[in-house]
Amino acid sequence: MSELRFNELRGEPVAYAIHRQDRTFLPDRAHCPLDPTRPGEPPTEIPLESFEIVVFDNRFPAFEAPAGAAEVVVYTDDHDASLASLPIERVEALMWVWRHRYQELGAREDVEYVYIFENRGVEVGVTLHHPHGQIYGYPFLPPVPALELAADARLGRCAPCVLLARERADGRRLLFENDAVSAYVPEAARWPYEAHLAMRVHRPSLTDCEPRELRLLAEALLALVRGYDALFERPLPYVMAVHQAPTCAGSPDGHLHVEFYPPLRTAEKLKYLAGSEQGAGTFIGDVLPEEAAEGLREAIERAR
Ligand SMILES: [Zn+2]
Ligand SMILES: [Zn+2]
Ligand SMILES: [Zn+2]
Repeated sequence: MSELRFNELRGEPVAYAIHRQDRTFLPDRAHCPLDPTRPGEPPTEIPLESFEIVVFDNRFPAFEAPAGAAEVVVYTDDHDASLASLPIERVEALMWVWRHRYQELGAREDVEYVYIFENRGVEVGVTLHHPHGQIYGYPFLPPVPALELAADARLGRCAPCVLLARERADGRRLLFENDAVSAYVPEAARWPYEAHLAMRVHRPSLTDCEPRELRLLAEALLALVRGYDALFERPLPYVMAVHQAPTCAGSPDGHLHVEFYPPLRTAEKLKYLAGSEQGAGTFIGDVLPEEAAEGLREAIERAR
């Protein structure tokens, strides 16, 4: 069981999940717990000889009923694949899985915010290489989505709608668009190659999207992550964050978008969160978002 405390000075909750110290840490290739269970071999987490997408409760949960949820979403039974290497059909199926989990977890009384995410690469603390993402059902509204709702209030209407219109009018940081999704480096990106994918029509969550929009979101995700891998010609580490409307009763609106935070500033150099970022909360960057967008646009083009 994890313990939740409130950090008064910062005005935010902190969760302690002590048992997580014992969790599987970078097991060797032959003992991957997310591999299918092969006949005659010890069982993995997944008792199937082959599978497409599997969701199960995290064995080392940061949150669990009756105070939230933590799930693992395995994208494929191929250990050596990645989100970028999956066929479009699989990524489209993943959008439906996400939508289903958002709906089901969001309907629970003890879940106020459904957060779908992926940590990719040892640089962001990945403990299992097998391609997978996670879902947390927070029993409270976490600070980042709360900040986004505060932006809505500050701007007088949906912030992602306002920002999307600004990015499209400016154009310098746009990466690409399809009929439902726009991809751009935000004007004030915090990470050197941060990129956002936003639904062009105001859709609070995946459950508000039409099937064709889910397909186009899958296409856009693939184009971006393939471009990321082409950027420095290496698998690019990142944190992928899916932001949607909170699911608490009478909750305010949201606007489905996906944010990517890659921690690299060059092929080898990491962007560290140091004095200014940690102690003052101000990011200091050395790549202008317009320049990052240019490099990323070329990489996405190369990877198509
Ligand atoms: Zn594996
Ligand atoms: Zn909107
Ligand atoms: Zn966001």
